[in-house]
Parts: sequence; structure tokens; C-alpha cells
Amino acid sequence: MTPSSSFPVALRSLTPDFAPGSVWLVGAGPGDPGLLTLHAINALAAADAVVYDALVDKRVLGLARPDAQLEFAGKRGGKPSPQQADITRRLIALAREGRRVLRLKGGDPFVFGRGGEEALALVEAGIPFRVIPGVTAGLGGLASALIPATTRGTNQAVVLATGHAAAGSEEDLDWSALARLRQPLILYMAVANLPRIAGALMAGGADPTTQVAIVASATLPSEQILETTLGGAAAALAEAGIEAPSIVAIGSIVGLRAQLTARTAAGAP
Ligand code: SAH
Repeated sequence: MTPSSSFPVALRSLTPDFAPGSVWLVGAGPGDPGLLTLHAINALAAADAVVYDALVDKRVLGLARPDAQLEFAGKRGGKPSPQQADITRRLIALAREGRRVLRLKGGDPFVFGRGGEEALALVEAGIPFRVIPGVTAGLGGLASALIPATTRGTNQAVVLATGHAAAGSEEDLDWSALARLRQPLILYMAVANLPRIAGALMAGGADPTTQVAIVASATLPSEQILETTLGGAAAALAEAGIEAPSIVAIGSIVGLRAQLTARTAAGAP
């Protein structure tokens, strides 16, 4: 056998058996199918049913077995979205019918993905399950946009946070405290609230010239990157009309991108 034909077969044997009646919670990464894990690809080839979220790319779904049952379980603008309880009930029902159930989520299933709740529900129902990590948008999506989560000399920590909570709600973060950390922030689900968040960070002492990058549809052909500052973010966003899904990076880590792209443009190795 030539190496090229034996290669996929050899890789298939690296994934554990996907048993009928079990559920795999699988991360699909930020969008580019090239960022799927081997386990994810093999699980797509084996699953009888694939229950997928809105952010899962069509090309990834195209890797499912041709006769697999594909079910959409995400939020889509304008249409009623299924409740979390409906989704877990559906996963349990499919597993009890003896299917191999692949629950496919954008990014990593355990990063702002409610994978933890789904895993708990499966444990309570006595359904065997496995979690397959994925490349999370806040790390992999930024890296492919040339924004490192950490670099020596700029930051010793990085905060992954959601910007989704309503102002003043119990879930909202203490943005002043985060500003005082003086470490970069990587925000999920933050675009709609960014003007308010930027204001809260500045009120907490963050410098208005702090660099900000908004990376929309990271790793996809439609990727857009907007570089601005905390003080300029609200106006820049209004002007650019950036759409979700976007990751917002705030702080010193954003600066390396300009250096890297300048070098790339100059043709440096
Ligand atoms: N579990 C996912 C996050 C789900 S929350 C993960 O680990 O990546 C949904 C948010 O993820 C979006 O609002 C956006 O902030 C971010 N996101 C997901 N895919 C993205 C992409 N391709 N580009 C930019 N942001 C993305």
C-alpha cells in the first residue's frame, strides 16, 4: 500500500470506538475544517446522528456519513431557538434508540458552549459519553489572525470572558477589577456590548489608547479584522458594521499583529 492510501486508515485506528447508544460532545473549532481534530473527523465518519449548533461550518457537516441524520439545534436569528433542556432530551432519546450521537459544537464544547450542562445531563441519564476538545475561537481564532494569547515580555496572564451579560445584571463582570489586572482580555459574545464594556474598563482605569482587535468569522474566508483602541472602539464598530461571531482582544497582545503583518508584507521569512 502506498503511504497516501494507508495514512487515513492508520489515523482512523487512533480514535476510540464510537459505541452505539453513546454521545460524543465534540468541538468543531472556530470554522476552518482544517482545524478539526482527528477524533472529530473520525466521529463524523462514524456517527448515526449529528446534532449541531449554529456556528458549525457547512463544510464540517459535509464530512458526516452521507446517511447520517443531521439535526440543527442552535440559535438562528428570527426563529425560535430550542431550549437547552430540549437539546439534552433529544440527545438522550437518540442515544436510547441505540444511535451513535455526535453533539457538534463550535470551538471547544467546554468553553462558553454549555457542554458542561449537557455532559451533566448525560451522566444523570446514565448515557455513556466522551468529550472531544476543539480549538476555541478565543485562542485558535486569534492565533490564526496573528494575535498571540501570551508573549514573553507582554503578559503573564490572559482572561477569557464573555461580554454577553446585560449591564447591572448579576452575571455581569466587575470590569473595573479586570482593568486593574493590567492583563489582556479575550472576550466572547462581546460585540453588541463593546461600547459599554470599553467605557466600564476605562472608568476602571484602563488607558483609552489600549489596543483592541475585533476578529469576526475567524479562520473563515469571510474573516474581518478591525484594529482600534478602547477609546475608539464604539465609533470604529459603528463605522465598520462588524457582524457576529467575533472575538475581541484587548491589550498588549494585539500589538504583535502589526509587527507580524508588516514583516509578512515585506516578504520576510
Ligand atoms: N464554544 C465556542 C464558543 C461559543 S460562544 C468556542 O470555544 O469557541 C459563541 C462565541 O464564540 C461567538 O459569539 C464569538 O464570540 C465566538 N466565536 C465562535 N466562532 C468564532 C469565529 N469563527 N470567529 C470569531 N468568533 C467566534
